[in-house]
Amino acid sequence: MAAIFRMSKSSNLASSICRAFTTASASASAGSLSPRPQWVFLGCPGVGKGTYASRLSNLLGVPHIATGDLVRHELSSDGPLSKQLAEIVNQGKLVSDEIIISLLSKRLEVGEAKGEIGFILDGFPRTIRQAEILEGVTDIGLVVNLKLPEQALIEKCLGRRICSQCGKNYNVAEINIKGENGKPGIYMAPLTPPPQCASKLITRGDDTEAVVKERLRVYQEMSQPLEDFYRTRGKLLEFDLPGGIPESWPKLLEALNLDECEEQLSAAA
Ligand SMILES: [Zn+2]
Repeated sequence: MAAIFRMSKSSNLASSICRAFTTASASASAGSLSPRPQWVFLGCPGVGKGTYASRLSNLLGVPHIATGDLVRHELSSDGPLSKQLAEIVNQGKLVSDEIIISLLSKRLEVGEAKGEIGFILDGFPRTIRQAEILEGVTDIGLVVNLKLPEQALIEKCLGRRICSQCGKNYNVAEINIKGENGKPGIYMAPLTPPPQCASKLITRGDDTEAVVKERLRVYQEMSQPLEDFYRTRGKLLEFDLPGGIPESWPKLLEALNLDECEEQLSAAA
């Protein structure tokens, strides 16, 4: 093994070692039939879904495909759907499932042709209908549902600050929820601004408790049937975040049987 690590200065080998783990992990966690990581990340607004999906995609060497990015990419290109999309977006309408699926299929085809070995989807599917259409396009092996208690999500959203000068994001909330009824507590450190930003912090207008609660309610209503859809197929991995990134990342890797994978990658780096 040591010889392999010495050879793997280029991260390619390391990520193929990692892929072997990924395969084992996907089947162990979800009884999946798919030999590659074809995963979906679910989670309510503010949970940090994009952050974890992006970190995991870097670790596994698979693309992090966010549907919002697909739409923006198509709009900025002169692809076949760009005109139609521009009209929809300019009229403030929602982009249809058919268009999203068409963009996604195209993206997956291009990826496959380039030799991509899987993907992590973020922001899709959102409804059972979309999940059903997706089943016709590709095999999803695992659906990771990231969760935080409502109290933590609200505090986190209310703690968001933006520097009015440089535009950087901070969070002044220090979340410390005591564990109870056998549930572990949650600690999330604040993301404190440096002195040059501290006096220029502003709050986004829609980060009020009422707005955050409504956003969560709408999300729950929409996502519950989708979670059930994947639960009954044995594909849903529920993951309660134990805190911020430093606390959650190692636990998430453990839950995905990827903890050894990260050790190997850092040994190879
Ligand atoms: Zn600043």
